[in-house]
Amino acid sequence: MQRFGRKIDAREEDVFSELLHFLLRKNNRMLSHDEIVEITGVSPDLLNKWVKLGKLKSTIFPNLGAPCERCGRITQEKLCVSCSASIVTTLKQEEKNLAWFNQIQRKGGKAIYHYKE
Ligand SMILES: [Zn+2]
Repeated sequence: MQRFGRKIDAREEDVFSELLHFLLRKNNRMLSHDEIVEITGVSPDLLNKWVKLGKLKSTIFPNLGAPCERCGRITQEKLCVSCSASIVTTLKQEEKNLAWFNQIQRKGGKAIYHYKE
């Protein structure tokens, strides 16, 4: 198996087009992230970058993904399912906290005003 990007001076675009050709071949479309790295020797960082840039689309390559920006798990979104879920929960909690904080502030504001007088 040919190792892609083996030449030190290989340009990124060249490596990419070589990889794309390889992936578009029958049966290669379904390869996973790790398999592609192992078979082609392309650096995982480059592969992640291309996935995130949308150069390698998950609609065409369903098993390809890039690390979740929060926990590093391979996902096809910016964040994996569990991180998205926990962020939604956090946001809801923050909304509650903010509402509570505003309430306190509204009450507290008056008190501070009186105090300064
Ligand atoms: Zn995650």
